[in-house]
Amino acid sequence: MALDWREIDRFLMGEAWAGSRIPEYRDYLCHEIGSRWGGSEGDFRAAEYIRGQMSLHGLDSVRVEQFELDTWNYTSAIARIPDTSEQLEIKPFLRCPAIDLTAPVIDLGYGTPRDIDAASDTICGAIVVLNLGSEPFTPPLPHTARLSLVAEKGAAAAVVVESKTGGRMEYRSANDWRAPGIAPHPLPTVNISFEAGGRLRYLAGKGYQLQLKVESRFFDTPANNVIGEIPGEVWPDEHVIVAGHHDTVFGTVGGNDNTSGTIAVMEAARVLAALKKETGVGPARTIRFATWSGEEQGLQGAYAYVAKHHGKNGLTAPPRFALNLDELSTGHMKGVVVMTEHMRDFMQGQLDTMSDALQCHVQGPLDAHSDHFPFVRAGIPAGILWRWRFFGRHATSEFHHEFGDSAQKLNVRELKEYVGQISRLMLRLSHVTPGDWPNNPHTAEEMERRAVSEIGSHTPTFHG
Ligand SMILES: [Zn+2]
Repeated sequence: MALDWREIDRFLMGEAWAGSRIPEYRDYLCHEIGSRWGGSEGDFRAAEYIRGQMSLHGLDSVRVEQFELDTWNYTSAIARIPDTSEQLEIKPFLRCPAIDLTAPVIDLGYGTPRDIDAASDTICGAIVVLNLGSEPFTPPLPHTARLSLVAEKGAAAAVVVESKTGGRMEYRSANDWRAPGIAPHPLPTVNISFEAGGRLRYLAGKGYQLQLKVESRFFDTPANNVIGEIPGEVWPDEHVIVAGHHDTVFGTVGGNDNTSGTIAVMEAARVLAALKKETGVGPARTIRFATWSGEEQGLQGAYAYVAKHHGKNGLTAPPRFALNLDELSTGHMKGVVVMTEHMRDFMQGQLDTMSDALQCHVQGPLDAHSDHFPFVRAGIPAGILWRWRFFGRHATSEFHHEFGDSAQKLNVRELKEYVGQISRLMLRLSHVTPGDWPNNPHTAEEMERRAVSEIGSHTPTFHG
């Protein structure tokens, strides 16, 4: 029997809109639980809550999958001018090793290769200060590549000056996530606000030394991914997956990053389960729903899942497609960005059936900043949604990895539309016959080589 997509779409958009649980989920995750650093109590409570909601809405095979997280935390981070006892507020970069050192400060400006060369004789043993953003007149290098260059010159530590103004400080990583495994920091690195960075530069010019002290430690801890599914009625052994991370960095409830994507996963599951229950229309191939822990710590939850399910002797055949939902409160949905060209025409064809002018684009350099990347690296077709990384973010929603990413940053009305569109797309993908999918020409070995060859290069969609 042919499906009546007009009626299906009407149900999915209606249920996403009128039956929405978004405010309730937002309040529980952001206000009752709060911040959810991977492996922390908040992270565990979030996984348990999501598992409970998936069960409540009648999903199949709902479970928590535990993995061992290579984690880190810190108890203090202090920047102090010893001669005057003046203190400047800083944040350590994520996984910054413990340090306590006092050294001269070298201002490297933007930290371009030219800036670094020009200061070459003075960098060794010094604390360097450089801008987070790239100097606009030379080809951009990510801050991770610039940090590696100053580390090679023997700098003792780096202070990175925020581009956003108003005292804001984000938690960041000093490592290029295209490198395999969890690498150590190239050098101890901390973040400083735009304004305090200006003060530090003034004091450096006067010849003052800086004391940097970070108390931190590394350890292993269990962490939980959450998985549920709606079984396929025609090809139950095949599946597509839609997922997003439920963990946050420290000190933020992550309204945008990534309470929004977590809720979109929970809501798409609820809406599609309701469609099946109330109209009898289910997916033809299985749709799997997952939320990950450890994204902010090197995508460790998604890596653990891909290794367990799709690695050597994996439990499950790879999905036909993996859609990653991250930071969905930063602009309306404009389409889907796939990571490989072979998916473009196919995905555009699916989007065209939705008649909402959604566009498919192909990522140039691979984007390693979120949970699609472990899938991509394993040779599995994957994508993200086209949103602010490309243009048109809301001025009030450029928040992630900082205190300002509060519950109000989650745009409820817009997220309802995402949920409806994601549900429509995932159901369509579940109904495409096996013979109509494009052949995947990419192997895990090839994608791994490509990821490594792109280490140090600029990812336009992330920084642009
Ligand atoms: Zn995120």
